[in-house]
Amino acid sequence: MWSKLEAVVFFGETDSLKFIADGMLGKLTRWLRMLGQDVMYSNDMEDSQLLTIAREEKRILLTRDFELYQRAVGNGIKSFYFQGETSEEKLAELAERFNLPLEMDMASSRCPKCNTVVKPLSAEKAAGKVQTNTVAHYKEFWQCPKCGQIYWQGAHWVKIRKTLRNADETREKIKKEGKMI
Ligand SMILES: [Zn+2]
Repeated sequence: MWSKLEAVVFFGETDSLKFIADGMLGKLTRWLRMLGQDVMYSNDMEDSQLLTIAREEKRILLTRDFELYQRAVGNGIKSFYFQGETSEEKLAELAERFNLPLEMDMASSRCPKCNTVVKPLSAEKAAGKVQTNTVAHYKEFWQCPKCGQIYWQGAHWVKIRKTLRNADETREKIKKEGKMI
């Protein structure tokens, strides 16, 4: 496994990383987009399409398919192969490899559905678009300018934070032990 420094040197600046995920990684894709990462995803792309887009758009191919990973690397396409089973483990592996933040920053967060950076939406504008008791309880809202989906840090946010904390702890273990548990 490469050290973080080697990965950064090879892949360039971390803030310009772009990814494309294989069809098995839908859940991880949503997590990464929420964390602000640019991730292209479709569950009906052929391997050859994934490889072509990765090459043309300089996207790092994310996969749990070792054969696809080998095919990518053999063709000079940057790829990352996950060993972890859960989203937490995968987030930890990727975050450690590319030095990615595991904290949600709404200023750069992307719509988990369509990969577009979300924009703040005033409570006034959210009213009428979400349930009345939601507007009564929450003050901050965001909207995806592309698909129109509205987001707020609701009850599920506790679970989101917990997952990210667990992922961060797993990342620390990987850092110390140099491998997945
Ligand atoms: Zn969207």
